[in-house]
Amino acid sequence: MSEKKGAILILSGPSGCGKSTLLKEVYKDIDDYYFSISTTTRDPREGETEGVDYLFTSKEEFEKDIENGDFLEYANVHGNYYGTSLKPINAALKEGKLVIFDIDVQGHEIVREKLDSIVTSVFITTPNLSELETRLNNRATDSKEVIEKRIKNAKHEVEFFQDYDYLIINDDLETAAKQLVSIANITRVKAKLFDKETIVSTWLN
Ligand code: ADP
Ligand code: 5GP
Repeated sequence: MSEKKGAILILSGPSGCGKSTLLKEVYKDIDDYYFSISTTTRDPREGETEGVDYLFTSKEEFEKDIENGDFLEYANVHGNYYGTSLKPINAALKEGKLVIFDIDVQGHEIVREKLDSIVTSVFITTPNLSELETRLNNRATDSKEVIEKRIKNAKHEVEFFQDYDYLIINDDLETAAKQLVSIANITRVKAKLFDKETIVSTWLN
């Protein structure tokens, strides 16, 4: 067991605001992290890989996993289930890693309630709604109907930004990436993440 406790960094924000793009940008600058691969019942998008972007499953399998208590949290987002499996998260936390979640506002609330002392959270958004629409349209991965659902949900989600520790407005990607790296690094030196006995006895020696 690491003398330093694992930590959780939650990223939320409207679909299409740039969470995945930002994460890809910052991984090289963050130490010892583990990205939590969610399970979902939505269809894979073009370019997504099973076990890398998501674990894709059926509604029946997902509901079985709910019954078995396999999820740390799960939610229905845009008409599909999304959830975080408990086992890999516990293993990564035990190894003292920074566990990164890309989950919605409902998931954030649940994880906060369960693991508050080790959670840091960031709400990410575009500068405005029309930029979100542009990005969702340009990404061209979803149908018009799905995009409309995501925009409707985004209007609701943005109301929750003050439940988060930090807000990143992802306008210029490079600036937003720098902010995210700073947050990820500062998350690692939270006093509560250190084992008190180890720190005090080492200090006294
Ligand atoms: P999310 O993971 O939040 O759903 P994505 O990372 O898939 O969002 O980004 C949605 C689209 O917006 C992608 O086409 C991506 O290239 C683009 N994008 C992300 N960040 C920016 C930015 N800062 N400026 C312009 N376009 C961006
Ligand atoms: P997308 O379909 O665009 O990949 O994700 C849609 C939304 O579901 C995003 O807001 C994303 O953060 C959220 N999401 C992804 N995985 C999870 C998860 O495991 N739990 C919860 N609660 N939300 C998730």
